[in-house]
Amino acid sequence: MASAGYSSVPKLRELRGNLHIHTDKSDGTLPLSEIAGLARKRKLDFLGINDHFAACGPSYYEEGVLILQGTELNRDHSHCLAYNSSLVPKLKQEDGAVVAKQVRNSGGIGIIAHPFERGSFLVSGGKCYPWLNWETADFQGIEIWNLTSQWRDSAKSYWQSLRQWLFHRYRPFAQGACPQALAKWDTLCRQRHVTAVAGSDLHAPWIKAWRLKFKILHYPMLLAAVNTYCLAEVTGDGERDGAGIVAALRQGRCWIAFDCLSLGRGFSYSAEAGENESGMGGTVSRVGGKAWLRIKLPRPGEIHLIHNGTPVVREVGQARDFSVGAPGAYRVEARLKGIPWIYSNPIYLK
Ligand SMILES: [Zn+2]
Ligand SMILES: [Zn+2]
Repeated sequence: MASAGYSSVPKLRELRGNLHIHTDKSDGTLPLSEIAGLARKRKLDFLGINDHFAACGPSYYEEGVLILQGTELNRDHSHCLAYNSSLVPKLKQEDGAVVAKQVRNSGGIGIIAHPFERGSFLVSGGKCYPWLNWETADFQGIEIWNLTSQWRDSAKSYWQSLRQWLFHRYRPFAQGACPQALAKWDTLCRQRHVTAVAGSDLHAPWIKAWRLKFKILHYPMLLAAVNTYCLAEVTGDGERDGAGIVAALRQGRCWIAFDCLSLGRGFSYSAEAGENESGMGGTVSRVGGKAWLRIKLPRPGEIHLIHNGTPVVREVGQARDFSVGAPGAYRVEARLKGIPWIYSNPIYLK
């Protein structure tokens, strides 16, 4: 873990985690202990466990990996991930706005899961689980990238899916985050902060085809593919460290990286205006109508700066400082050879 400094909170560290994981306690296919062992081998610092309708529990370390015991609520549509909630889940379908409010009132963080999932006729007759009611401000996060949804949405036929799985299994992820989710997120962030995360939605179901039985989207594959990085304090105490990660998710001190393209470790993005300074998820007051945005990638790539949803700068390099004037939400996307790689959370200038 590398140190990552914020002037206001000096002990923050860069933590790499994989969110939205199902275990064999719901409809996943591996026990948590095995998943934690796989995560340790892949040098993940934390896992977000979201078994359907499970109760959230205190965080703890397993195999040296911090386990966030979260949940995934709702059944037929409007799935909501939650962490740190005291809610006792009821096994029933609710309006998304109702669930988000329940999670918020119970002290938890609510994250909209796979909001624009389309499904594929090859899986469960095309069943999908999009978010339906956007008339709520009670959620704090949104999955802009759900790997299982993306892979399944890309399935056009049995042969194409089989070929893709055998020879190009990471290809669907090279499209980057869901464009509709990105657009929605940008719209939301013009009103209030909403944190963007990636979710694996790991189930690793057994697939039966002809006389074959196999797993696609298995745990080792998705744990290494796209991860969410947080800046949080590490004390070695599971409950405290879990609370730190939930706080980072709530505040937006995080970024997403397509890690099997290139690791997102070492990314940094901050803003500065006179004595005012902040990192991702924070707000900086401009001085003289100006502020500096400072961006550093783990390696040289394309740096895209996006202001209130509109791309304003594209440059190639590893580190860049931009002077900007207009208030609003500024976020960064990085690409490698045109492939989406890193998505920052925004910094707000006022
Ligand atoms: Zn779901
Ligand atoms: Zn799920």
